[in-house]
Amino acid sequence: MLSSAVVKTKCTLDGNTKALGRIFADHGYRLYLVGGAVRDYLMGIPNDDYDFATDARPHEVMAMFPHHVIPTGLQHGTVTVRFRRQSYEVTTFRSEGGYSDSRHPDSVTFVRSLESDLERRDFTINALAADTLDGTIIDHHDGRGDLHRRLIRAIGDPDERFAEDALRMLRACRFAARLDFDIDRRTFEAMKRLSSTLTRVSAERIRDELYKTLMSDHPSRGIELMRTSGLLDHILPELVRCVAIAQGGMHSMDVYHHSLAALDESARHAYPLAVRLAALLHDIGKPSCRVEGEDRCTFHGHEITGGEMVDGIMRRLKSSNEERQLVSLLVRQHMFNYTPSWSDGAVRRFINRVGKDNLEALFQLRIADACAISGTPSMDGLWELEERIGTILDSSPALTVKDLAVDGHDLMAAGIKPGPVLGRTLSALLEAVLDDPSLNDKDTLTALALGLQS
Ligand code: ATP
Ligand code: MG
Repeated sequence: MLSSAVVKTKCTLDGNTKALGRIFADHGYRLYLVGGAVRDYLMGIPNDDYDFATDARPHEVMAMFPHHVIPTGLQHGTVTVRFRRQSYEVTTFRSEGGYSDSRHPDSVTFVRSLESDLERRDFTINALAADTLDGTIIDHHDGRGDLHRRLIRAIGDPDERFAEDALRMLRACRFAARLDFDIDRRTFEAMKRLSSTLTRVSAERIRDELYKTLMSDHPSRGIELMRTSGLLDHILPELVRCVAIAQGGMHSMDVYHHSLAALDESARHAYPLAVRLAALLHDIGKPSCRVEGEDRCTFHGHEITGGEMVDGIMRRLKSSNEERQLVSLLVRQHMFNYTPSWSDGAVRRFINRVGKDNLEALFQLRIADACAISGTPSMDGLWELEERIGTILDSSPALTVKDLAVDGHDLMAAGIKPGPVLGRTLSALLEAVLDDPSLNDKDTLTALALGLQS
C-alpha cells in the first residue's frame, strides 16, 4: 500500500500563508513553502517552523512590506517578514558554495528559478516545496518517493554534496533519528568514505546537530549511524571506545550498547537534553577503570573519571558552562547507593552534594540507567529516597554554607582570623548542622566555632 506521502499532490495551507502568497503574486513574484515544513506535512508531523523561498530579491521583499521587514540575514538572502503578528523567514532563491554555519552558505548567487534553489539543498526529502497560491507540491527529486521508502538520500552525487558541506553527513543521521528512516546505500557509502572530513566543520555546528539528534524520538538510531559511518570517531571517540567493553553481572550489554539503551530510555520519558547527554555519557569512564575480577569485572571510580571526561568532551563541543557543569555533575553523582539505613544527616549531605536544583535530573538519569539494564527494575529505594528528600526539604534545613545562621563577618567579629581557617571553620559548621539542624543558631554556631579553634 502506498503511504499518503507519495500520493499527496497538494499541501493544505493556513490562511496566513495563502494571504502572504497572494501579496507576492500581486507584486509579480512567487512564494513557496520549502524544506522541513512540507516534508513534515506529508509525514503528518506538526511543524510550525515555516521557511519560505521566493524569486523576489531581498530589497524587493523589503519594498513590498515597508516597516515590516527585519533584515535578518541579508547577505544570505534572508529577511523576516512580520505579517499578521507572526514572523516569517523569506529567502531569495539561491545557488551557493560551501556552508560554514548550518543555514547559510559562504557565497550566494541569487537565481530566479525554484528548480535551482531546490537542487542546492541537502536531501531529497528536504527539497520539497509547496506553491503558496494553491498548495501544489513541487518535487523534482522524488522526495515523496523517499518519504514513502523511508530513506534519507542526498540530492545528486552524494560525494559532491558532502564535499560541499561535511555537516550534511551528520544531518543525514539526525533526520534518520528524527523520522526513524534509513540512509540510502549510496549516500551511506559516501558518508563512510568522507567521514574524516567532518573535522573541517566547526564544533558549534557539530554540537547543534548532535543535540538535535539527542532530542529526537529515536536518538540511538542517529548515534549508531554516526558510529557505523565513522563520524562518531570525530565527535565522541570516547564513546566508540565503549564498544565491546563487557560488563558481566546484571548487564547483558557492552558499555556502548547499554549507554544507547539509557539514552533511548531518557527519550522515551521525554527527559531534557542534559539528562540525555548524561545518559549517553554516564559510563564513559568505564573502559579506563575496568579491572578483571574472578567472575565479573569492576569499574571502581568510573563515575569520577567519567565526570572529568565529560567536562573535556563538552569543552571540546563548546557547550555552555552551565550545561557542561550540570552534565559532569550528573555523571559524577550517578552511582549513589541509597539504603534505608541512611540517616537524615546522610540524606541532607546527599542533597548538599548534588544541589537541590539538580536532584530531579539525577533521578531521571538513574531511572533511565536502571530501565536500560533490566526493563522493569525495582526502584523502591529510589522512591523512598525521593520521599525522604521531600520531607527534609519541607523543613527548609541549612544545606549550604550560605544557609548557616553565621557568616564570615560574624566569626571574625567573634575573634576568628580571616584567611583559610575561616573557610574551613564554616565548612565544619555546615557539617555539624547537616547532622543536626537544631545547631543552626548564631550563639550555638559561634560557640562551636570558637571551640574548634582551641
Ligand atoms: P527541522 O524541522 O529540524 O528544522 P529542517 O528541514 O527545517 O528541519 P533546517 O536545518 O531548519 O532543517 O533547514 C531548512 C532547510 O534548509 C532544509 O530542509 C534544507 O532544505 C536546507 N538546508 C539546511 N541546512 C542545509 C545544508 N547544510 N545543506 C543543504 N541544505 C540545507
Ligand atoms: Mg527548520
